[in-house]
Amino acid sequence: MHHLFLSPHFDDAVYSCGGTIANLTRAGEGVTALTICAGHPPANEISYFAETLHERWGYKNHAAASQMVDIRRQEDETALSIVGADGLYLDIPDCIYRRGGERNRWFYPREEALFARLNGAEDALISNIARSIIEIADALSNNPNQIRIYAPLSLGNHVDHQLVRYAAERAFGSETITYYQDYPYAQQRDQIITYESSADWRSKTTYLSENDIERKVQAVAAYKTQLSTFWESERDMEQAVREFLRGWGNGELFWRFTPRLFL
Ligand SMILES: [Zn+2]
Repeated sequence: MHHLFLSPHFDDAVYSCGGTIANLTRAGEGVTALTICAGHPPANEISYFAETLHERWGYKNHAAASQMVDIRRQEDETALSIVGADGLYLDIPDCIYRRGGERNRWFYPREEALFARLNGAEDALISNIARSIIEIADALSNNPNQIRIYAPLSLGNHVDHQLVRYAAERAFGSETITYYQDYPYAQQRDQIITYESSADWRSKTTYLSENDIERKVQAVAAYKTQLSTFWESERDMEQAVREFLRGWGNGELFWRFTPRLFL
């Protein structure tokens, strides 16, 4: 069995499923993480909002912003090698750089837009990504029964996470997908209630060994540029990751959509 984890950004698959990936590869299974929004920022114009974010992140110019994508990709390759997985990357830029529609407007020109509905004009992009994922899945395994697809539930509602979920559903149908809980958004338990209280969703836990957990922590630490966004220190990160896993019985929880049929 080959396992294909769809990661909206460079760190999502490892943050959310790093222990499971370590567990699978230790058992000899093949694992690939495909990062969707791994493209460089556009060389020409960016939005005012993107400019303010670049300032906040300390990017002095376009070259610095573009170089950061290369650095983050290297971090991802390091993290994936720690948990024994391969990395693949699509050339889609982050939501803050995307625009389109009749008047070529920015789709997400302010902070709140990042966690609201996906812009309807991104429908064509969903189809493009769906096609790319199918091609990659076919290349990884010529037998569709021998590949398992993992997509984010998009807890936290980030538009790039929604984009990946919709693309996976368009490509394979929601009933064949194994959904993962987006970490760290999944730390807010209220995000998961919809699934816990629904008769159409079933969960399954991958229980992790200390070695799996240790490798996950090391892999999360490999995203050095992201640490300060979520944690005060590496030690603080390790505590948070371990505490979160303990909350699920030292495991990572996954969800399947299995609608009940009333005949
Ligand atoms: Zn993300």
